[in-house]
Amino acid sequence: MTPALEALQQQLKKLPGIGFRSAERIALHLLVEKPARLPELVAALELAAKNVRRCTTCGNLAEEDQCPICADERRRNGQLCVVEYVTDLAAIERSGAFHGRYHVLHGKLSPIRGVAPEDLNLGTLLQRIAAGEVTELILALSNDVEGEATCHYLTERLPKTGLKVSRIGFGLPSGSGVLYADAVTLKSALEGRRDYS
Ligand SMILES: [Zn+2]
Repeated sequence: MTPALEALQQQLKKLPGIGFRSAERIALHLLVEKPARLPELVAALELAAKNVRRCTTCGNLAEEDQCPICADERRRNGQLCVVEYVTDLAAIERSGAFHGRYHVLHGKLSPIRGVAPEDLNLGTLLQRIAAGEVTELILALSNDVEGEATCHYLTERLPKTGLKVSRIGFGLPSGSGVLYADAVTLKSALEGRRDYS
């Protein structure tokens, strides 16, 4: 074990789903078995770090000011789906069941974990609603106490303009978000969304 190898392993271990053994395997794979892959990986990491940012409209990942979904005129159908994380957005996109636009909060309210409204991407959401681009707000937040608190906080702050608000997640396992639901479950959860106002 050299200091550089150890440093690489330490960084890999910080990634989700990678434990000590996997970190060791990946590090050795890159340094011993396939050293030619290392510069490619470094280049991809640098490119992503330099180019990928948050969409100024919805909080999704983007390489321009706006993400491809916000920039797509065809997706302006008045439906706005609010999710906790980019991974949730990706799961709903994979299901192919939703054709509107999104808003990513980057978390949910949690007094226990110290997540307050100002820590979430809420301000731009209220601005989008105030700007009149939304006719139906679909809350795709997790089916737990924190998800419910976030939905409640949001609906309390909505303008009283007859905006339709619905919520999905009732068909999903309790306490889980949309991330771990398969495409069929997600599709039926979206279709079976219920009025929430
Ligand atoms: Zn966007």
